[in-house]
Order: sequence, then C-alpha cells, then structure tokens
Amino acid sequence: MIDQYGRTIDYLRISLTDRCNLRCVYCMPEEGIQQISHAEILTYDEIRRICRCMTELGIRKIKLTGGEPLVRKDCAQLVRTLKALPGIEKVTLTTNGILLGEQLPGLVEAGVDAINISLDTLNPELFQKITRRDCLDQVLEGLQAALGCPQLSVKLNCVPVIKEKENFVALAGLAKNNPLHVRFIEMMPIGYGKQFPFQDEESIKTVLEEAYGPMMPTAERFGNGPCHYYTLEGFQGKIGFISALTHKFCSQCNRVRLTAEGHLKGCLQFQEGVDLREILRKGGTDAELTEAIRRIIWEKPVSHHFYETQTEQDEMRAMSQIGG
Ligand code: SAM
Ligand code: SF4
Repeated sequence: MIDQYGRTIDYLRISLTDRCNLRCVYCMPEEGIQQISHAEILTYDEIRRICRCMTELGIRKIKLTGGEPLVRKDCAQLVRTLKALPGIEKVTLTTNGILLGEQLPGLVEAGVDAINISLDTLNPELFQKITRRDCLDQVLEGLQAALGCPQLSVKLNCVPVIKEKENFVALAGLAKNNPLHVRFIEMMPIGYGKQFPFQDEESIKTVLEEAYGPMMPTAERFGNGPCHYYTLEGFQGKIGFISALTHKFCSQCNRVRLTAEGHLKGCLQFQEGVDLREILRKGGTDAELTEAIRRIIWEKPVSHHFYETQTEQDEMRAMSQIGG
C-alpha cells in the first residue's frame, strides 16, 4: 500500500511485550515500567489475524521486537506462524541477545530470516552501567551462536551512549573479524532517550577512519530499514549508520508499528494510531480491521519533528513499549 505521500509501506514492527530482562538507561528506568497485564497483550492468534489482514494491504516483512521479544513464551512458534502467512517474505527479530543462545535453534528451525542484536559496548563494566545488569557473557554467547548459523543474516546495533573512542573501535572491529554488519544508531529523543545527548554519525566515522582507514560509501542494502553502509578494507562485514537526526530518512520510511497491546502507529514520534485490539475483541470483521489499518497507513505522518518544540500529539510511551 502507498500512503498519502507516495511512500510504499511494506514493513511492520511488532512489539511482543513491554517486559525486558535489561534496564538500558536510555530505554527503561531502574525499577522497570508499569507493565501491562497478560490479558491486555495481544495473543499470538490475534497477532496472526492482524498480520493476515496486513498482507492484503502489502505488508511483506515483519520484525519482532519489544521490550525483549525472547522473554515472551514460544517466540519461535510465532515466527513459524507468521512465516507461513501467504505474502510474508521475511520475519526477523531484534533482541538484546541474552536468551538468544538457548532459543536460537528453535528460531532457526521456525525460519527466522535475520537477527539484530543490540549491544552498546564490549566492556563488562560499561555493559553493567548501561544495562544495569551483569550479563555481557550471555549476550556474547548469543552472538557467537548466531554467527554459527551461515543461513542467518546477523547485525549488531549500537546506540552510542558510551562515547569513548575505544568503545566504537572495539565494536566496529567485530565487523572486521566476523561476517557481521555493525550499525550505530543515533539516540532519538523518545522516552528516556530524551535525557541523553546524541552522538552524531560524522564524529563516529572520524574515529573509525583513524583506527581502520577510509570508509567507502556503498549503495548496498542489507534488510528493511534506512541504514546506509560503508565498506572498509579488510572487513568481512559493513559499518552502518541509522541517523534519524542528522540524515533524516522520513521520505523513504516504509514501516508501521504495532504495540504489544494492539495499538497500530504510523510514526515513532506520534501517539496517533488505532486500537486494533478493541476491534478484534468486540468481534470486528476482517473488513473492519483492514479498513482501520488502511487508514493508519494512509494517514502516516509526513515526518518526525525531533528538532522542534514538543506537541500534545507526541508519543509519551517509552521505547520499550513501542519496540524501537
Ligand atoms: N530489547 C530488544 C533490543 O534491545 O534489541 C528490542 C527492543 S529495543 C526498544 C529496540 C532497539 O531500540 C534497540 O536497538 C535499542 O538500542 C533501541 N533504542 C532504545 N531506545 C532508543 C532511543 N532513544 N534512540 C534510539 N534507539 C533506541
Ligand atoms: Fe530492554 Fe532493548 Fe530497552 Fe534495553 S533497549 S531496556 S534490552 S527493550
């Protein structure tokens, strides 16, 4: 489906839960957030029905996110169900990696196409400082397990909250020694992220060029999103940047977002959306669901306005509730 600004929308991000086993400082407070009850969260059957209607409107790729998607029971089962929907080409997952080692065989068997692992540092003390948990080893085990599956596309995502040069150099070095793309995501002023300054792409690029030599832009794409990539000599993987602030990409945005409780959103920054759970649980027909989804896609906002004054329409949810 094409929205009113001519953008093709073929990508859906689904938050499976607002719960998480980490407490990243820019995403969740120490004490966690007021959790929604199990009864309020969409069941897998409800998610499947929404996705089936979405395929009619042209959604072809689905990303499972959260909170932490792997803390929800039987995530692999949902992957299998969604992969079986006619029209769905790819089902991918973004995870903090803690439970990945144990769940990877099931996910691969279910047909997951790609896994993004979020990791902001390779230093155990800094990891604990960022995530307020001491479990870097488990994340690294998950990463190794994923790299052991040649059929899987694996990416590492870093939000540069630790600004030491060594941190960027060490993380980028993973792409030198492994078939892995390492991507730096500019901190967005959403939820707890508002409290942190963002580190711009150019400054990270300068640090990496000092350490590894020239970075050559490539037009190659790896996945569903707005990341742009660079090639470095001697590197197996690419280095990418997702720069919502310094390289605004709203004119190419291809996605909508479904929260764990069934709120379908057109844009990360705006609350505006539709309560699909209400339609489902009041006995709505597929035609009613599809019409509600069509309206949100058509009315998708033209762009974010991160640089401007906040408005009453802006999103008040935390990133862990929206899915990033
Ligand atoms: N728990 C999973 C994970 O960490 O990958 C999935 C959910 S998490 C909300 C998805 C992504 O959003 C992560 O890569 C995280 O680093 C990123 N994120 C969270 N808050 C952010 C912010 N304010 N700006 C940019 N990215 C953010
Ligand atoms: Fe959890 Fe992911 Fe948010 Fe970190 S970024 S607190 S892992 S949801």
